[in-house]
Amino acid sequence: MRYDTAVIGGGPSGAVAAAELARAGLSVILLERNLENIKPCGGAIPLGLIEEFSIPDELVEKKLSRMRARSPKGRTIEMVMPNGFVGMVRREKFDHWLRSEAEKAGAEVREGLMSSIMPTDDGYLITTLNDKIPPFEARHIIGADGANSKTAEELSFPQNELKVIAMQQRFHYTPSIERFRTMVEIWFDGEVSPDFYGWIFPKADHLAIGTGTEDNRHSIKGLQKRFVEKIGITDAPFLEEAAKIPMKPRKSFSSAKNILVGDAAGLVTPANGEGIFFAMRSGKLGAQAMIRHIREGAPLQEYEKEFRRLYAPIFFGLEVLQSVYYKTDRLRESFVAICADRDVQNITFDSYLYKKMVPAKWGVQMKIFSKNIYHLIKGG
Ligand SMILES: Cc1cc2nc3c(=O)[nH]c(=O)nc-3n(C[C@H](O)[C@H](O)[C@H](O)COP(=O)(O)OP(=O)(O)OC[C@H]3O[C@@H](n4cnc5c(N)ncnc54)[C@H](O)[C@@H]3O)c2cc1C
Repeated sequence: MRYDTAVIGGGPSGAVAAAELARAGLSVILLERNLENIKPCGGAIPLGLIEEFSIPDELVEKKLSRMRARSPKGRTIEMVMPNGFVGMVRREKFDHWLRSEAEKAGAEVREGLMSSIMPTDDGYLITTLNDKIPPFEARHIIGADGANSKTAEELSFPQNELKVIAMQQRFHYTPSIERFRTMVEIWFDGEVSPDFYGWIFPKADHLAIGTGTEDNRHSIKGLQKRFVEKIGITDAPFLEEAAKIPMKPRKSFSSAKNILVGDAAGLVTPANGEGIFFAMRSGKLGAQAMIRHIREGAPLQEYEKEFRRLYAPIFFGLEVLQSVYYKTDRLRESFVAICADRDVQNITFDSYLYKKMVPAKWGVQMKIFSKNIYHLIKGG
């Protein structure tokens, strides 16, 4: 069998890409190494994504419009999103649903670990490990196989170097952690993470608590242990998970015949490590470019151009924020102080919910600029 496109990896990016291609009538195989895979993930998604992809209510087990930021000294700022919420999903259910949507649209969903990609006269021969499925051919490939993408390696895309290692533990609710049930809490604290942040995400029947770091001088297990101790949890987690998060797009993630999407392309925003939205948007944009390429010969590189046009300002803004404010505890203290400003909160939430940079009024911009300067000087 020779497919128009093989999508390697059945996470959010791959499942969305496969569904889009199949809906357009192309023959597509979605190859996932483990259909029961539970991707380590906080599962926080913005309202804009829920609306765009019509995520059913039963998958969004919490809709949280309150959020608390905590500074190294324990100062807390409570924020309320006036126009929306963060949705909490569980990846084991979420990914399964996305793959079933792809299957309904006509994609062939198969379990198998891609082990090699060999060029042929008019496409590629793809082999899986253990021969779970026999080698098959595809004219084009979409690499959606996550941060350690084997597809990117096989197709010689530029390397992706900057990666955060993140760890998360899940705890059943007990009286000592009941208080976290109704709001997202983010810890900006060097003891919890020297260059990222710690998160407490409430789910329907448990709390997901995690942290990350880019800095290999710190043990992620040590940081996580300290975080959990600081919160005051003494019970053991019922699940522990860890994985890498890319923090920078690859120099290029499209070529003449193939593309990368989601984590495989490095499409996770710095500072907050948000990747599900960008995985699904890149899966959709990438598949649409693939359809135009197959039907009209349009260059596949249009996909990368379009993605960068839409989201490069957000990536840039968050990179600056991380490199300025995540350096020392004094700066983190200043950062949390800035979060107390209502205008800062509104701008942050509006751009988070729909991933659009929302320009503030000139007066508001000047006020935020002055506050930044003041706090940067104060934070050293
Ligand atoms: C601890 C942690 C917490 C996070 N929290 C959040 C959060 O709260 N919100 C958010 O937006 N983002 C979060 N992220 C980031 C988010 O999980 C990713 O950005 C997102 O999953 C990317 O989706 P993807 O489809 O590109 O890749 P993935 O979800 O990684 O999916 C890749 C798929 O490819 C499969 N695969 C890999 N290799 C092969 C192969 N050779 N052959 C076949 N299949 C293969 C894997 O089994 C996997 O199912 C978090 C990440 C981590 C590690």
